[in-house]
Amino acid sequence: MDFTNLEAVLRGEPRLTRAQVEEMVFQHLIDDWSRATNLPAGLRERLSRDCPLAIDAELFSLSEGAAVKALLTLRDGRKVESVLMRHPGGRNTVCVSCQVGCSLGCVFCATGKLGFARDCEPLEIVEQVLLFARHLRQRGERLTNVVFMGMGEPFLNYDNVMRAVQVINRKEGLNVGARHISISTVGIVEGIRRLSGEPAQLNMAVSLNAANDRLRSEIMPVNEKYPIGALMEAVSGYVAKRKRRVMLEYVMIRGVNDSDLCAGELAALAKAVPGGLGFVNLIRYNPTGVFQPSAPARIEGFKALLRSEGVAVTERYRFGQGVRGGCGQLGLHARD
Ligand code: SAH
Ligand code: SF4
Repeated sequence: MDFTNLEAVLRGEPRLTRAQVEEMVFQHLIDDWSRATNLPAGLRERLSRDCPLAIDAELFSLSEGAAVKALLTLRDGRKVESVLMRHPGGRNTVCVSCQVGCSLGCVFCATGKLGFARDCEPLEIVEQVLLFARHLRQRGERLTNVVFMGMGEPFLNYDNVMRAVQVINRKEGLNVGARHISISTVGIVEGIRRLSGEPAQLNMAVSLNAANDRLRSEIMPVNEKYPIGALMEAVSGYVAKRKRRVMLEYVMIRGVNDSDLCAGELAALAKAVPGGLGFVNLIRYNPTGVFQPSAPARIEGFKALLRSEGVAVTERYRFGQGVRGGCGQLGLHARD
């Protein structure tokens, strides 16, 4: 898909035509301009020639079809991955990538090991959502949620992410409500501050993964630049301004961050979020060849400890491991 020439093709066209073009792409989810029969034939031809709608992607499905991973080839040949998670009850969440690779090198994350190639353009992010919106439409289903939890750090590509969010969110775009869009950050303090001032009511998640600076710096080098104190201060500022809940994400890694002591430290941080608006989301560690996941009983114990401290805890549904499309596993293909 390539819209670089869209403006040139639509130059001189009435506003109505532009609106029709947008409607065909984002609401009717056409993948071929020949299907836009409400547009004049000449325009359709020019669009087909100069603004192709086809998305270059390979899909990998889990046998039960509960998750589908897409490997998209971008125009420069680079690849990004996204994942569709089909929750029971009709919730369909797309997890998108915002960068090709990631510069932050968290030691437990496959994307981190890839290194950083480049930022994704806004349309390259939108494409990932569009691909699955089309896929679901063909099955009589609807896309309901979008999460920025794929490859890359959203707040290091802030402007492009926000441009993509606008298209995903706009009524005339993909029409996904802001409250159904979540951005996960490793904790870039400037980004958290900027998000506090955005008009849209987006959800924010912060990848904590360790609740003391020594351990966090060991597994997340970015903690040297943005230590926990500065990070939690930014989170408190966000909460005070937005009055919205913040999800503290915590990947459970066996023998690394899953002790009772760690749970106590994590509880203290969560409880310090103003208004009781901090809650913890435990994520099972998806193996990337470095560590082992915490045993289920340990996760239960950890959860119980947090709850006994009065902290709200959820546990992420496990998806995509079979297609190596689980959290933190995106980018493994590049090393095969
Ligand atoms: N860069 C952003 C968003 C992408 S990572 C961030 O770090 O928040 C999305 C989530 O996947 C983060 O919470 C991260 O901690 C988690 N993650 C990374 N590697 C993982 C792994 N191997 N298993 C489970 N979760 C992982
Ligand atoms: Fe980058 Fe997030 Fe992976 Fe860390 S966890 S390396 S920030 S994608």
